[in-house]
Amino acid sequence: MAGNSGVLYVVATPIGNLADISERARQTLADADLIACEDTRHSRALLAHLGIGLGSGADGETALWAYHEHNEAQITPRLLAHIEAGKRVALISDAGTPLISDPGFVLVRAARERGLCVVPIPGPSALLCALSAAGLPSDRFLFVGFPPRPSGQRRTWIEGFAAEPGTLICYESGKRAAVTLADLCAVLGGQRRGVVARELTKHFETFLSGELDTLAARVAADPEQQLGELVILIEGERRPASERQEVEELRILAILSDELPLRQAVALAARITGGNRNRLYKKALAQRQSEA
Ligand code: SAM
Repeated sequence: MAGNSGVLYVVATPIGNLADISERARQTLADADLIACEDTRHSRALLAHLGIGLGSGADGETALWAYHEHNEAQITPRLLAHIEAGKRVALISDAGTPLISDPGFVLVRAARERGLCVVPIPGPSALLCALSAAGLPSDRFLFVGFPPRPSGQRRTWIEGFAAEPGTLICYESGKRAAVTLADLCAVLGGQRRGVVARELTKHFETFLSGELDTLAARVAADPEQQLGELVILIEGERRPASERQEVEELRILAILSDELPLRQAVALAARITGGNRNRLYKKALAQRQSEA
């Protein structure tokens, strides 16, 4: 750590219920010389609730600066200069833990590269809050952030972690929940168990659980379930690798044999999947016979 330098505190704030602020977070914000936040109007309301007055940053007052994805390149060097000058800088986001689908990575990495002191002040995060109460396996999980918005990109994105054995967790807005659940169903199959955790820690907190196809239909049919913020959790892939490989081989073979002569489809499917060509050929023949 650089001598005489200040500290960058990475402070988690509530995801809905203001009573979830920790005493340490409150004290850190009250003692900060400068608070960097996403939306200053939003954070002013939180700080007012905590009884933290704001000012210019001089004479013991706390300054509030906007720090978001559109200005982080300009603001990061200025924040680093403050820390190097011995100031206590606190980073918060609109809700939850900074850097978790929120800005801050650029600043924290730059602070670490300069040998500055970075201190986490832990607290709420929607992903762990949802996982802790969803009833899905929690020994291993993969957090994948927000799905891409165009459906084609979203399906490719889902394919990228279809084989993951741990519980999958993504963020989504209520407005897009139905389309994302429909794509999750289409790619992962409707039989996997899932949970939609909505409006966590708030008045209308709900956990919907069930198989993906039931969940998707339920959310699509109920406008209430499309309101607010939510976390989608899906049980990981539990089939053995050999079974998954076989399903994947047959899926690719079916697509290719719709377009190509059988031998060519088999040769290509074997190259794509790494499967055995003779075995695939026998399967393709058996499939053809059963369809005849
Ligand atoms: N940094 C935050 C955290 O630690 O959870 C996440 C910020 S990200 C921009 C916002 C997304 O988090 C929302 O779209 C939603 O998916 C999830 N989220 C945040 N608050 C939530 C809540 N109270 N209930 C359910 N999901 C929430």
